[in-house]
Amino acid sequence: LSFKHSKHSELEELDKKHYLHPTTIPKTHAEQGPKLTFAEGEGIYVRDVNGEKYIDGLSMLWNVNLGHGQQELADVAKEQMSKLAFSSSFAGYSNEPAVRLAEKLASLAPGDLNSVFYTSGGSESNDTAFKLSRFYWTLKGKSEKTKIIGIKQAYHGVTIAAQTATSIPLFHDFSGSKISEVFHANPHLTNCERGDKSDPNYEGCIRDIVEKEGADTIAAVIIEPVQGSGGVHVPPEGYLEAVRDLCDEFGILFIADEVICGFGRTGTMFGVENWGVVPDLMSVAKGISSGYSQLGGVLIKESIRDVLVQYDQVLAHGFTYSGHPTACAVALKNIEILERDQIVANTKNMEYELRAGFEYLQDKHPTFTKSRAVGLLAGFELYADRDSGKPFDSTILPSAEVVEECFKRKLILRALSSNVGRNIVAIAPPLIINKQQIDDMINILDD
Ligand code: PLP
Repeated sequence: LSFKHSKHSELEELDKKHYLHPTTIPKTHAEQGPKLTFAEGEGIYVRDVNGEKYIDGLSMLWNVNLGHGQQELADVAKEQMSKLAFSSSFAGYSNEPAVRLAEKLASLAPGDLNSVFYTSGGSESNDTAFKLSRFYWTLKGKSEKTKIIGIKQAYHGVTIAAQTATSIPLFHDFSGSKISEVFHANPHLTNCERGDKSDPNYEGCIRDIVEKEGADTIAAVIIEPVQGSGGVHVPPEGYLEAVRDLCDEFGILFIADEVICGFGRTGTMFGVENWGVVPDLMSVAKGISSGYSQLGGVLIKESIRDVLVQYDQVLAHGFTYSGHPTACAVALKNIEILERDQIVANTKNMEYELRAGFEYLQDKHPTFTKSRAVGLLAGFELYADRDSGKPFDSTILPSAEVVEECFKRKLILRALSSNVGRNIVAIAPPLIINKQQIDDMINILDD
């Protein structure tokens, strides 16, 4: 395909007329056209159709972990497409890249998460995790265990079950269609999850919901190890461990949504490893292929797989693109490069550089506060008066203004505003970033 005859203005007109964009204000888009039309990228940089160069400070949608223009990923995709672009995984058919990737994932995943159900992305992975949880309990003779508990401000995707588990109101409430059996607990209450009923926050914690609904009605708890779109919220020490223990105590499955955290983003291969927790099911997508192919999956621990493989009828779930050979070949190469080039170690090192930059900004700017970084999943907040904790007036959104000013200075970031009216700016650059490039981002923020 050659787009060289395309003129920016022509593209804008076509876009306005024919392209309904996700997570975009339709009216503004139809009137004003795209904010920017990407054309190419290299490393942490992207260029638009006018040749303007930007730092991709969010790895697009927290997914382009190896950066843009990675030729080895392009080459392996071409090679696999030329050989066998697609084949079915239904009805017992298989293909080599899907099998090799399954083995690789088993070797990488914590504990005994040794098998995978492939999907094409994060929402499909979470829907799959819910369905497999319920199916598992049905096979165990506990078909009444159907409810799912998530936590507030979670983002798990937009298919109807994932949307229901998503708690960010903007997404949760869109279009009105939801399933009924999902509950949202107040997050990150370690003592409460350990059973401390004297804690004034006990009501509404996961344990409280389990006690009220009855453990025999609950299939699974789903949690992002570090909450991404909800505001880059890092759990306190002991929280994920407490939820793991709680799930074991009550016989509830623990689903880790590693769609953002997985594959190095948090400075470990998987987010849960920061807290030494092994989930029962783990949803992955995004970083599995650095966004070069549309792939997701649910990793499944042995004791669950043992039950599933006793089923002697059709497991009536699966997507056309489950086990897509090209997508899997790209993911295998992506993981090979992650390991070969020690990208996870680089992520950890760059976390320290980013933290140093945050300290500098904190010293210099009185509104800058609450910075955090787990690997290169990072963010900070803006307060009118950080010492007293006084937020900005809710009619202004300084985080959006900061992001807009950075955009003018050719740095792409994202503003997140949580339901408590906080002004959060998210930073999650490609994991191949170097110290100079971190400094460049900090300098733009400083400005
Ligand atoms: N889970 C998490 C934690 C996510 O951040 C996302 C997307 O941002 C999803 C699930 C949904 O993934 P997808 O957009 O690939 O369906």
